[in-house]
Amino acid sequence: MMPTPLNLFNIFDYSQKMWPEKWIITRTHEGTHRYRYRDFGERVRRLSSALKTLGVEPGDRVATLAWNNYRHLEAYFAIPLMGAVLHTVNLRLPSEHLRYIINHAEDRILLVDEELLPLLDPIRDQLPTVQHLIVLGDQPDLSKSPIVPVSSYEVLLGGAVPTGDFDPDLPEDSPLGMCYTSATTGNPKGVVYSHRGIVLHSLAMGLANTSAIAENDTVMPVVPMFHANAWGIPFSSIWFGANIVLPGPAPTPADLVRLMSEERVSVSAGVPTVWLGVAKALEKDPTPLSLRMVLCGGSAAPPALIRTFEETFDVPFAHAYGMTETSPLATFARLKSTLFDLPKNEQLAIRSTQGLLVPGLFMRLVREHEDAPWDGKSMGELWLKGPWVADEYYHDPRTEDSFEDGWLKTGDVATISPEGYVRLVDRTKDLVKSGGEWISSVDLENAIMAHPDVFEAAVVGVPHPKWDERPLAFVVPKEDREVRKEDVMALLSENFPKWWLPDDVIFLPEIPKTSVGKFMKRALRDQYHQYLSSSQ
Ligand code: ADP
Repeated sequence: MMPTPLNLFNIFDYSQKMWPEKWIITRTHEGTHRYRYRDFGERVRRLSSALKTLGVEPGDRVATLAWNNYRHLEAYFAIPLMGAVLHTVNLRLPSEHLRYIINHAEDRILLVDEELLPLLDPIRDQLPTVQHLIVLGDQPDLSKSPIVPVSSYEVLLGGAVPTGDFDPDLPEDSPLGMCYTSATTGNPKGVVYSHRGIVLHSLAMGLANTSAIAENDTVMPVVPMFHANAWGIPFSSIWFGANIVLPGPAPTPADLVRLMSEERVSVSAGVPTVWLGVAKALEKDPTPLSLRMVLCGGSAAPPALIRTFEETFDVPFAHAYGMTETSPLATFARLKSTLFDLPKNEQLAIRSTQGLLVPGLFMRLVREHEDAPWDGKSMGELWLKGPWVADEYYHDPRTEDSFEDGWLKTGDVATISPEGYVRLVDRTKDLVKSGGEWISSVDLENAIMAHPDVFEAAVVGVPHPKWDERPLAFVVPKEDREVRKEDVMALLSENFPKWWLPDDVIFLPEIPKTSVGKFMKRALRDQYHQYLSSSQ
């Protein structure tokens, strides 16, 4: 067979020829911006020639600091198509991490949304590799730029020739992009994506066994484009010809509901906190939607959330799992047809797991260097391998801790059922280790969130003088509802042994969140570190 390289040209060229009339729609501060794939392609070509004029060469890192918008999408294609490396920078990182990752990646050019320029202010003099800043906006005020030289994106594109002399033979192992993932301690760790990995991952996103993104979809990634390639949705949507809706700067749940309704979105993807917010907005203001699938991942989707979407809003809800290191899609929870006869609640329990391994990948369950059985009970660390799984951290000695014998050690503790369903018990660091036994914080959280008056809940282990660690529960009641500690304890007592029950329940107005909207358990652990230290 022909050794045709699997590179982004494959995706772009096909898409431009097959789907020029498809739409890319962006929510902006001014209203809605819409244009067709054809115009998108022309601007991609202009952007790459403009970058070439600025001296960008194959292998150079070009960074983006931007919301989900059409200019960001243009960068997603123009940068890798010319052989340069798209480095998506997380705009919610603290400035010392922004500084670290821009310097560590040695970014040469930064493309920054106009409204995000102030993020660079505190580090303006500390980015020695950056040679040029490009401001994304309609008519940006360049005098506000903390870095010079600076150009307006639109002026650059206006003056560029849309040559698009992309190399169809760009080697498939060349780097396409990079993204830094947060580390528990220390600086973020860089993951480099290859063209081959992204092409194969994009195909995987189109499988009927996963999200089945297709030409007749309108897809809205709520998951940020600065986080794990927005789960690869931009690449697969462009390849398969779906209309794309980009929710723009800091969308609220009400913005998302409006966009999904007005643009007749069929697939949307985000972390559970996004869907908790949307559920709240829909409960307040019921709106008919045409979603064929809500795709939820990034942290565990509580079964109660799945039930709310399916039973109250009539929206199918799919749970998936992955990591920045796995591009990210690794498992996807669809019910096997052989299990269709199970009672509804058992079906829900299976669909709340992280799901089945995506075709193309390999997995192991490892406990104390041995493979643990796939019996649905034995716990072990999930190890992954495959063409879209990273094999190292970029220029980082921490590679040694996370990779072994060609496998990625995910740091996630799981069970695997005889049918192959992966159920994440916890992140290794979030497991509560009480008197030598393990308590799953995720299981407790899911049970608490099944309470009809609970909005969100987190469970963390805090030091205890006798048991090493004990669970503490943090609960946020729904607006205008009251939840008591006794209610939470009674609910948990029905499902868990006594020693699993949290030592206390603390009510908060909100659970602190990480830069990508996950519960920030570290903050709770730090704050309540001494909470139980006087108990016996
Ligand atoms: P960060 O470490 O910055 O959160 P990632 O987004 O790469 O970066 O996080 C990957 C981790 O998120 C996984 O290792 C896992 O612990 C968690 N995760 C992702 N998807 C799910 C899911 N569906 N259920 C439970 N945990 C998940």
